[in-house]
Amino acid sequence: MRFVAFLDLDDTIFQTLAKCPVGEPVRPVAYRQDGTPLSYMTQRQQALVDWLLASATVVPTTARNLAAFRRVHLPFTSFAILDFGGVVLLPGARPDPAWDAIVRPQAFEIAAELNVACATLQRWNAELHLGLSVRVISDFEMPLYLVAKHPGGDADRLEPVRRRLADSFDRDRFFLHSNGNNLSLVPRFLGKERAVRYLLDRHFRTEPIVTLGVGDSLTDAAFLDLCDFRMLPRSCQLTEARDGSSKATR
Ligand SMILES: [Mg+2]
Repeated sequence: MRFVAFLDLDDTIFQTLAKCPVGEPVRPVAYRQDGTPLSYMTQRQQALVDWLLASATVVPTTARNLAAFRRVHLPFTSFAILDFGGVVLLPGARPDPAWDAIVRPQAFEIAAELNVACATLQRWNAELHLGLSVRVISDFEMPLYLVAKHPGGDADRLEPVRRRLADSFDRDRFFLHSNGNNLSLVPRFLGKERAVRYLLDRHFRTEPIVTLGVGDSLTDAAFLDLCDFRMLPRSCQLTEARDGSSKATR
């Protein structure tokens, strides 16, 4: 039976140097726009990816847009889910036109709201002297979601903005992704699970398959739930949430 692995990237199979285990050999695998290394893979992460690529159809399932996905130097050749599900790439890296026809009108419908939210976060950032970068992530000429990061990796700087945003955003229209140095305001028509469901229904129904989901963040939970099996890094946002809730119920 064919295996299909939906694989989150950042903080699942690589991470910034500050998050790498001390003393363990690592190699650069994802790069900044200027070409300098940003994220690194341990030998165990490399072994996991090698094993998946040899055994399964691997579908990267990421919030990265196409430009950022291309800065990940790993030999993915099949489908890919980008932009929190906003874009599905077919093998050969062409956007899936049927998925694009579903997402694109919704992206333009929410563009004005996304711009207002972006201006608000930029204002808070200036008022509080946080030094964040705040921008709308677009792909294939669609505005898709809003992201705030601290360029120096100081995730604590995001906290004042996260609190203000958590108190004020429209929960019917958006969800928040907050993990480390990444705060994203994501329209509800996105979601990795929506694109995973689409791929399963549209492209993987011609033969029996076994699905495996691999991810680290709370926003990965819904797509992991669609898979027959799930795999999490030992220490990540999802395991911390699980361990926290099990402690609370003891
Ligand atoms: Mg991740």
